Amino acid sequence: MSKRVLLVHPEISRTKYNFAGVIENEPLELEYIVPVLRGAGYETEVFDKAVEEKSVRDKISEFSPDVFYVCGRARQENFMKEYCAAAKRENAVTIAGGIHVQHNWERLYSAEVDYILTTFDVFKILDILELKNLEEITGICYKKEGHWVKNAAEPFDIKRLPLPDRSYFYSHLSNYRYLELLPCAHLRTAYSCAYDCNFCYRSTLNRGKYVTRDIEDVVSEIENIECENIFIIDDDFLISPKRIEKFKELVKKRGIKKKYVCYGRVDFIINNKELVRGLKEIGFYYILAGLEAIDDKRLDNYNKHTNTDANIECVDFLNDIGINIMGLFIVDLDITARDFAEMYKWIRLHKIKHAAVSIFTPELGLDIYNRYENRIITKNPEHWDYLHVVARPDIGIRRYYFHYYILLIKLLLLAKRQGVYDFLDYKGYLKAFVKGIFKKEKGV
Ligand code: SF4
Repeated sequence: MSKRVLLVHPEISRTKYNFAGVIENEPLELEYIVPVLRGAGYETEVFDKAVEEKSVRDKISEFSPDVFYVCGRARQENFMKEYCAAAKRENAVTIAGGIHVQHNWERLYSAEVDYILTTFDVFKILDILELKNLEEITGICYKKEGHWVKNAAEPFDIKRLPLPDRSYFYSHLSNYRYLELLPCAHLRTAYSCAYDCNFCYRSTLNRGKYVTRDIEDVVSEIENIECENIFIIDDDFLISPKRIEKFKELVKKRGIKKKYVCYGRVDFIINNKELVRGLKEIGFYYILAGLEAIDDKRLDNYNKHTNTDANIECVDFLNDIGINIMGLFIVDLDITARDFAEMYKWIRLHKIKHAAVSIFTPELGLDIYNRYENRIITKNPEHWDYLHVVARPDIGIRRYYFHYYILLIKLLLLAKRQGVYDFLDYKGYLKAFVKGIFKKEKGV
């Protein structure tokens, strides 16, 4: 009888204000594992707790897996451990993977976890299950005579990645969305990032090596996805003008008609305006751009290699050609009450309809965390969601939350006046934000 493997993506958070039903991500990371294991004769099932009603515990009892795999980000660490413990009680072998453990494997060193995957190389899961010589499998942690052993990861060549098995996505089409784009499939064309903004976790993945797929293969994959909305989840899709030009030409030539969402840097957009106009023509609908700050000093501090003039030019240009810009901002720990107010004015002045504001978060496992270590106020990884203060701000936690939530309320009302997010439960979010104004310590 073939072994049964349950592949689980935990919920994003257990708080109400978590963007559930607004942004829901296809569990692509698990869907890459399915063909690898099925090809070797394993029986697999995907279970995304972000969209499932059933508890993971019930799913484990029902499916009775021989092997349990769970992946997640920092904020999901507690859930990953909890689910591994539940699987262990049912005698399953447990494996934890995903981006968080690439730098924080030791945080998962526990009785309920048997193996940790610290690489994007999904084939290593098969190596573990086939009981290959553990000492020779790179990118894993395992137990030997009661002690954890870590084999360093090597950069993974993304060209080896199989095509994902999207059966789970197709059976949950009403769940997966990016704002009004419903359903919305995820697609990966590259891994890690070629830049090095110093707050960013993504560019450190894959041992810091940026790797790309052949663009012909990418376009063929898109052609075969039965969904008209595609979120290209590369940490930055717009890196090589030559590659993007080829992408545009192939999509045009093959007559593919879809809407696209992607991340893109400001400098790429303003230095390649004709190309970006061409992307609009083939269906680019949202570009998520890291504007980060409204002053050059902070942008320099972040090692962003852009400036506010470039940010303004980018916003004006995208507004002009009709691609929706989702402006991504960070509110730093030295920000004042006045700076919060200025950020709102800046967003309004430059007619940014979609804005997402994150609280500056020193990432677990990166150098930047060590720099802020003496200011860290919480040990709970669930707070690493960019919505919680995890390091003490200059103006104090209470005042910081007060001004942060005032900013969110003002942005929400601005968006409502402009008719964006019509599908959103405005009242619910407003209520959560008003509650946030009175937050004192450590968050919701
Ligand atoms: S460009 Fe984006 S993904 Fe790349 S390092 Fe900077 S913030 Fe991270």
